[in-house]
Amino acid sequence: MLTVDGSFCEGGGQILRSSLALSIVTGRAFRIENIRAKRRKPGLLRQHLTAVRAAAEIGRCKVEGDEMGSTELVFVPGVAVGGDYTFSIGTAGSTTLVLQTILLPLALAKAPSRIVLEGGTHNPYAPPFDFLERSYLPLVNRMGPKVSVTLERYGFYPAGGGRMVVDVTPAESFGGISIVERGDLVRRCGRAVVSSLDRKIADREVRVMRKRLGWDEGEAEVVEIDRPVGPGNIVTIELGYENVTEVFTGFGEVGRAAEAVASHAVQQCQRYLRSSAPVGEYLTDQLLLPMAIAGSGTFRSTGLSRHSETHVDLIGKFLDVEIETEREDSRAIVISIA
Ligand code: ATP
Repeated sequence: MLTVDGSFCEGGGQILRSSLALSIVTGRAFRIENIRAKRRKPGLLRQHLTAVRAAAEIGRCKVEGDEMGSTELVFVPGVAVGGDYTFSIGTAGSTTLVLQTILLPLALAKAPSRIVLEGGTHNPYAPPFDFLERSYLPLVNRMGPKVSVTLERYGFYPAGGGRMVVDVTPAESFGGISIVERGDLVRRCGRAVVSSLDRKIADREVRVMRKRLGWDEGEAEVVEIDRPVGPGNIVTIELGYENVTEVFTGFGEVGRAAEAVASHAVQQCQRYLRSSAPVGEYLTDQLLLPMAIAGSGTFRSTGLSRHSETHVDLIGKFLDVEIETEREDSRAIVISIA
């Protein structure tokens, strides 16, 4: 049985989530120790526990140690079975991260799946729904499966209560892709979303986006959520190119000025625009898993975060693939998987 040290490198939740996905896909059992040892509250929190149980359910797996706060787990995989699944985190924990744990095993299963996920849909430190839908999934779909998502309810931290529905038609063949150039810009838009908060917050954020990016009135808009579950605010800036879409996010929080929330998203967008590489920092660490499972692929990235480095190390424990990185200049790096 493979032993994974959950404290290595970044020592966060990704080590656990990707181990679960890779275990089901490869059929290799693992024991993980020191789960999330480098986080402020180590061990399994609700989001991680839901990911473990979801993986165990879809993969017909045996688990020991799946309790709140647990820092050790033994996971013996079965086979991923497509079907109807519902997973409720019970807090505002990230539904997109739970989905990323089970998506690839289900995308390689024999039958289609419909997955309902409840919890947070727009969490700081996790891919917001918009990023999942417009940035990550279109690339996964280019590898073979057909995955579509619907946001039925927004879930912001701390209220949670969000809900999304995911339909997965498995891939007949799952193959790596090449994302070397962005291609032409075909769409750009900014959104300032408010839930149970004053619209003026979003107006101020839209003003910052338009001014700092030099965009026209129609290119950045305010979205007020109908039937909100709890308060929340998010700014997203979407750049859609022929070959890739990137989504940059600023999360509102108590005590943070609307201008600062919008500026955070704008700065990430401007940093991306200074590079010519198509794949930004977050998409880089998330693309590594599907590309490695596909066993091939190349992409140019704006840079390799510590998170990505951790991911590369972890993937090497489960899969016999070479992930090579070659720096082009200070703003681009080529990542090849073979
Ligand atoms: P923890 O151990 O605290 O639970 P975690 O599991 O929540 O950590 P990480 O292990 O840091 O989180 O992984 C977070 C994931 O969320 C990464 O894959 C990262 O790319 C992604 N992510 C974070 N912020 C964004 C963002 N603004 N847009 C897109 N993806 C994001």
